[in-house]
This record gives sequence, C-alpha cells and structure tokens, in this order.
Amino acid sequence: MAKSKVLIVGGTGYLGKRLVNASLKLGHETYVLQRPEIGVDIEKVQMLLSFKGRGAKLVPGFFDDYQSLVEAVKLVDVVVCAISGVHIRSHHVLLQLKLVDAIKEAGNVKRFLPSEFGTDPARMANAMDPGRVTFDDKMVVRKAIEDAGIPHTYVSANCFAGYFLGGLCQPGKIIPSTDSVLLLGDGNQKAIYVDEDDIAMYTMKSVDDPRALNKTVYIRPPKNILSQLEVVGIWEKLIGKDLQKSSISAQDFLAMMREQNYAEQVALTHYYHVCYEGCLANFEIGEDGVEASELYPDVNYVTVEEYLRRYL
Ligand code: NDP
Repeated sequence: MAKSKVLIVGGTGYLGKRLVNASLKLGHETYVLQRPEIGVDIEKVQMLLSFKGRGAKLVPGFFDDYQSLVEAVKLVDVVVCAISGVHIRSHHVLLQLKLVDAIKEAGNVKRFLPSEFGTDPARMANAMDPGRVTFDDKMVVRKAIEDAGIPHTYVSANCFAGYFLGGLCQPGKIIPSTDSVLLLGDGNQKAIYVDEDDIAMYTMKSVDDPRALNKTVYIRPPKNILSQLEVVGIWEKLIGKDLQKSSISAQDFLAMMREQNYAEQVALTHYYHVCYEGCLANFEIGEDGVEASELYPDVNYVTVEEYLRRYL
C-alpha cells in the first residue's frame, strides 16, 4: 500500500521534531508547516532546513491566515498536529480549531491526529481545576473533529519519559538525583512511561492503519507500566545505591499546589491524577481503543531501565 503524504504541524516542537523524523524514516512524503512568526529563531530555522535536507517539504502556513492552512492541508492525505499544550512552556491547543475548519473545507484529508499525546482527556471528565483545562481544551478539539466528520486517530501517549523518568516522577525535576527522592503518597500507583521517539514512531505507524481509524491508540509498552517506587528501584540498581526517601501525602501535595502560580498548578494537577490516583493505568482499554505495542510489536521500544541508563 502506498504511504500517505503527511503534513506535520508544530514540527519544530519537542514532540513535533520526532514526528517529522519518524515520518521520514517510515518513507512518508513529509510536509512540515513553516510559520512566518519564526522571526530570528535561528535554531528553528536550522531545524527546518535539516528536515528539508532529509527530504521533507516546508510549507508556508500561518494560523492567522486561514487560506494558507487550507492550501497546506490540500497537499496531503494525513495531518498530524503537535502544537504546544504544556502550560509551563506554551499552550495553544485551541488554535487547532482553525486547522479543523481548514481540513473540513479542504475535504481531502483521510486522517487527522490532533495534538493529544498524554492522558486520555475523554477519561478526565472529573479532573481537578486548574489542570482540567488541558483535558477540556483537547475535548473541544475532539468535538469539532467529530462534528465535522473528519476521520481521526487520538494518541494517548501517557508519560513523556523525559519529564517523568528524568525526575523519578517528581514534579519540577527532570534529572534523577543520586541522593534522595520524594515519593508521591506511598509511591505505589502505576503509571506508564514512553520514550518520546517511540511515541513518534507508534504515532506515525498508526496514520495509515485501518485498525486505528476513529480510535484512540493507547501507548502502553508492557515493561514500562511501573510505580514510582519501581522506577526508583531501577535507578537505585543502576547507581548501586539506595536513595533517601521521604513522602508527601495527597493532602499536603494539594495544599502545596495551591501556593504555586497557575501554570505550575496545571502541571501539578496532572501529577496528582497520575501519581496519586493512577489515572493512566487503572482502566482496561475498551472497544474505542487499541494498544500500540500490540499493533506494532516490531517497534523495539526503550525500556525504563534503558532510558534511565542515559543519565549515568
Ligand atoms: P512544544 O511546546 O514543544 O510546542 C510545539 C510546537 O507548537 C512549537 O514548536 C510550534 O511549532 C507550535 N506553536 C507554539 N506556539 C504556537 C503558536 N502561537 N501558534 C502556532 N503554533 C505554535 O509542544 P510539546 O511537544 O511539548 O507538546 C505537544 C503535545 O504533547 C501537546 O498536546 C502536549 O499536551 C503533549 N505533551 C504531553 C506530555 C506527556 O507527558 N504526556 C508532556 C509534554 C507534552 P512550529 O513553530 O514548528 O509551528
């Protein structure tokens, strides 16, 4: 089967650049949206040029110029969006509504993958403020996609390894300590950690896959479904030393959260749902979902131990 032509929106981002890499690696004709707001961001320009050097096509497009989005979308079969969605960095999930309109008008797109790549927002109807804004915004985009009748795939990628493993599941930390760790509660809730390049590869493998059409692809590499204590145990084995452990109760965590600024509170809410409530691993995938490592057993995913080894 011929591979679809793919447009990546947000292609210079933390996840976006990996999606471009995976798309090129899998042999898709790959287009990357190039926004004029790039200004003098030399690293972004160099990144785009490196994509071009590897065969990607750069397409000018601007979220304030609707027609430019329609023209960009008309070039391809599949659109994958990785626009920013982390408040402590940048959050523009709702801008995708313009992209949804453009896809609807263009009428040629066979699959749209919106910027999701985290906790399944459909399961977070009871999430806490203020972090629920992430899930609410992603659900607004989903509704627009479904109302417009656009074929889609949603990717629930669980925890980006860089944030969660890097910090041994502690918010605000992204390098593992060799001395101490703060456990969230008893540290026994299971979460799911995925290497960002693996997220991109699973995502791009799903774009032409009829099994993922109008479904949520949950990325649950079996060896990477672990509690914070288990992650810490793997790290301790790697460094040959036990960490000093303290813990923070759910009540104290929430009290501490209320003292932070808005963006940090959003992030902390997410940690709360993941680490105290186990929201990523406490359900079975139903009929609306499929599991990535089962669909694509050929992907040799990075295990938690392999990921943590990088910090030695
Ligand atoms: P980034 O913050 O790296 O931003 C991605 C891209 O968004 C940017 O490179 C830029 O792309 C585009 N962008 C930013 N601002 C604007 C704007 N004003 N107008 C148009 N485009 C803009 O995003 P991430 O890679 O961190 O996040 C991608 C997705 O992954 C989000 O949905 C996020 O929620 C999710 N995520 C999940 C995590 C998890 O642990 N599960 C952790 C982190 C993110 P360009 O300039 O190329 O157009």
